[in-house]
Amino acid sequence: MQAAWRTASESLRQEGWNLDVLEEPLDWPFEPGPLTISRVRGTLYGVAIGDALGAPNEGKPRWKLQAEPLDSLKPHNERPAGTVTDDTDLTLALATSILESGTLEPEDLVPRLIEAASKTVAGGWATEQAVERLRRGAAWWLAGTPSAGNGAAMRAAPVGLFFDEPDAIRRAAFLQAIITHRDRSAAASAIVNALFVGWLARGGPAGEEALFWLAGAVDGLEVPLASRHRRKKHQTVAGLVREAAEYVGEPEKAFEHFRTGAFVLETLPSALVVFLTYPDHPEKALLLAAHAGDDTDTLASLVGGWLGAYLGDRKLRSRTPSNWWQVAAAPAIERISRR
Ligand SMILES: [Mg+2]
Repeated sequence: MQAAWRTASESLRQEGWNLDVLEEPLDWPFEPGPLTISRVRGTLYGVAIGDALGAPNEGKPRWKLQAEPLDSLKPHNERPAGTVTDDTDLTLALATSILESGTLEPEDLVPRLIEAASKTVAGGWATEQAVERLRRGAAWWLAGTPSAGNGAAMRAAPVGLFFDEPDAIRRAAFLQAIITHRDRSAAASAIVNALFVGWLARGGPAGEEALFWLAGAVDGLEVPLASRHRRKKHQTVAGLVREAAEYVGEPEKAFEHFRTGAFVLETLPSALVVFLTYPDHPEKALLLAAHAGDDTDTLASLVGGWLGAYLGDRKLRSRTPSNWWQVAAAPAIERISRR
């Protein structure tokens, strides 16, 4: 990962990216517990269940979803119930790459991303564009689309599981992000997702203090972006992650305020509020996320990953309907978790 970091950081710094925060040491602010297989399986199943539950609702407005709520996996994209989408397929591709290479190695990851993106259901635009450039031989540190879409964040969970130290998680999450999303806020959101998985999977508290630590871990990386819905206000992932603390306990208000579209400035803070409102009630949290409107599969998938990291697979299983576990990705998750 060191050589990849040097290559990417040199190129991005020449374009004015401030990567200083990623060079600083970062420690867990609590005594980390051991990572268990239960937390690994919980995280990966959580990602897949949220994805499969939210996918039939993707792109629909909240009012419409709440008028006809679902409580089980349903067919979508002309595929049977339990089919997962890009959120899960790319998460599992990243997990496999890290386990095979023992680190974050773009040369190993790129062909896996190309393969997963070409087979997946309902893939994202920015990832498809980047994958097309990679397929034609573009260098991995130059190929990414300049987009603050959700694609880099939604697949980042395995980084939080398979790297132990927070500064290594941060750099690995950054590197895997820019391969498809060459954008500072997309990278910041991938870092936040990976670090939060790492935090929860090692016994960190499911409380608002996590938000301030996560925001501090990416401070200075971003250039403020104009939100699509609040055009006058320029926003960063770091700022919005801190702001999410004001909405814990009021997810409906959070959806109104942050919105739920396929854009990191919307999905990530909304998902954080859902999880922190119901960390011990996974069925409630996942259904809420899957009915939030717009990018429901990514929203529920992020929430699912954190629930699984926090609760582990046994508690997650005992507190959710058994038919939710019939996700198509189950054999792949079992294979990865046993390694
Ligand atoms: Mg998706």
